[in-house]
Formats: sequence, structure tokens, C-alpha cells
Amino acid sequence: MLNHTLFVGDLHLSADRPDILNAFYQFLDQISAECDALYILGDLFEVWVGDDIAEPFAIELAARLKQFSTNTPLYFIHGNRDFLLGRQYAALAGMTLLPEVHRLNLYGQTTVLLHGDSLCTLDKAYQRFRWFRNQPWTKFIYNHLPKNQRVSIATKLRSKSQQSNQQKSNTIMDVEQTAVNALMDKTDVDLMIHGHTHRPFIHHLKNERQRIVVGDWYDQGSVLTITPDEISLTALPFR
Ligand code: MN
Repeated sequence: MLNHTLFVGDLHLSADRPDILNAFYQFLDQISAECDALYILGDLFEVWVGDDIAEPFAIELAARLKQFSTNTPLYFIHGNRDFLLGRQYAALAGMTLLPEVHRLNLYGQTTVLLHGDSLCTLDKAYQRFRWFRNQPWTKFIYNHLPKNQRVSIATKLRSKSQQSNQQKSNTIMDVEQTAVNALMDKTDVDLMIHGHTHRPFIHHLKNERQRIVVGDWYDQGSVLTITPDEISLTALPFR
């Protein structure tokens, strides 16, 4: 059935979780050639250190995604875990890289897509890191480090972020409404779709606006389906 568009995010794929990978493969097989497009809204991978150090499971995934993309347009927005995913891997996987904020017209509805971490503006420490990380010179220097150094930096950053996230309150880890409103105003949209917070929900906002959060794929999958007349956010149990 054409005339629907699918959104997923926060799969956090890693070699340690073949169950998630298999669930995603089944999902791809089921939807192949039946939808208008699939959007991956970031954190497809638990961690991404560089296209040249992609693990074997990621190479296999690229082949499956490439196959999928021959029938269905496939789009990717970077998450905070895989912000280093580059053109090389995207090309291998047949994914079109989108900017971190992407506006589109979805069956007549003005829509903005993003990963969602940029909306967590109460987390000042993270936003400072995010600014630093996004500087062209940071990326340039990082990309010119030897592979083992890049792996060790990524490992350190990950354990540091896990430690500090445990100490952060639920409020700090969620999006801030003023940031949501500001972006919806700036992009002039009625619908916002993002992930990152792992709190799947359809929020009905003022002025008939909506903010939809796709869920993570930790214990089950989460898929948002949008048709010209309907929105559904469903859980996808792992078999
Ligand atoms: Mn995230």
C-alpha cells in the first residue's frame, strides 16, 4: 500500500544486540516497496566512530539498506550517537543524508524532522558539548586521528555521558517546550517529528500543532506511520 511514510529512530544497533538487528531486517522486508519513504531519525547505531572503522554487522546492514533503497527512498538524520556517520557509509547504505533540521510537506502538512537532542536545552553541559562537537575544526582534527585513538575517544565519551546522564533529572533529559515552539515557529510547521528522548507519544499542542516522538528499539520496536488521513505510532514486538 503506497501513500504512507514511515519513521523510526533510536535503534541503537550494535554487535551485542543481534535481536534488534533481526527485528529491523524483518521490518525492512515487510515494508519494502510498500511505502513512499522511510526516515531514520538518528541513533541508528549505538556508537559510530568512523566510516572506515565500520563493524561487520554495519557493513551487512548497509547491504540490506542499499537493497531496500532500490525500491523505496531512504533518508537519514544524524543522532547524537552516530553524528560521525559520513557520506561514505551513507552511500554504501543507499541513505540520503538530511540536514539536522529538515522541513518537508507531508501529504499537505507542514512538517519538521530532527533527532531531538537539540531541543533538550535545559541540559547545558550537553549543549556545550554539542556545540564543540559540531565545529568543523573538531571534526577535522578527529577525522585525522589514527583509528585506535578515535575508538578510545568514543569509548571515553560514551562512559562519561552514561555516568552524567544517571545523575540528570527526567526534566533535564526531556525536550523543552520553549525550544519546541521556537523551532516550529521558525520553520513554520504544524507537525514536528523526533526521537532521542525514548518517550514515544503524540503530543497535541496549541493551535492544532502536534509533536510526535518515536520510541527506541530497546525492548521492542517503534514505528510511526503517516498517511494522508491518519497518524499511528505503534510498538513492534521483537519475535
Ligand atoms: Mn539520541
